[in-house]
Amino acid sequence: MTGGHDPIPLCVPRDAAKYAAQAGARWDDSKRCFYWDGGVGGISENSPVRAYLPFRFRPDRRPPYVRPWMVPQSLWGWNLRAMLRREDWDRTRRDAYRRAGYRCRICGGVGPDHPVEADEGWAYDDTRFIQVLKGVIALCPDCHAVRHWGRSMATGKEQHALCWLAWVNGWTLVQARTCADNAMAHWHWRSGHTGWTCDITWVEKVFGVRPMADATARAAETQQGLVALARQSRNDEMR
Ligand SMILES: [Zn+2]
Repeated sequence: MTGGHDPIPLCVPRDAAKYAAQAGARWDDSKRCFYWDGGVGGISENSPVRAYLPFRFRPDRRPPYVRPWMVPQSLWGWNLRAMLRREDWDRTRRDAYRRAGYRCRICGGVGPDHPVEADEGWAYDDTRFIQVLKGVIALCPDCHAVRHWGRSMATGKEQHALCWLAWVNGWTLVQARTCADNAMAHWHWRSGHTGWTCDITWVEKVFGVRPMADATARAAETQQGLVALARQSRNDEMR
């Protein structure tokens, strides 16, 4: 059942390889990846392949599959890496990689140097100013760079991120620019509030881990370091 469809990369966890193969997915040994060759329309309603589709290919999803999603400035550094013990963070992020079969959950791709990175899925309560962790997912470096748009700007990778934003969502560059500008405006608005709090109970519930005793102090220290760094890079730019 090839019928001229582009192969779709699948996010198959290693322990689900048998089910993917039984459902008709093709293993490409050179790419170390399962593919679906029959087009999205060729996936039956109850096929396990549905669960392995990257967001970009899922029939129940519409663009944007990825968009800039920046952490308000007062919460920079309030991430799991800073707040958890090293081994707890490693367990959390590796679980995300494993569940995605070491492919990007959004586009199905992988990076040239390392396949995927862990992205914290924050939800924002713009009324009560709470940043709530909803999960951790595996993203390729390019999709991850779109999410952390501010950092991509600061490191000279904005144009690449813009092209990627357009490509993944099937947009023109103008549409991608509008999306990024809106995200930046929203980020400025959120960053205008300093009373944000951060809720990471998701990781406590799912992995049974606790933030380190000095997590708050560590996060605050990381935040100050990152703000200083951003100020420095802005100053360098103006020189
Ligand atoms: Zn990706």
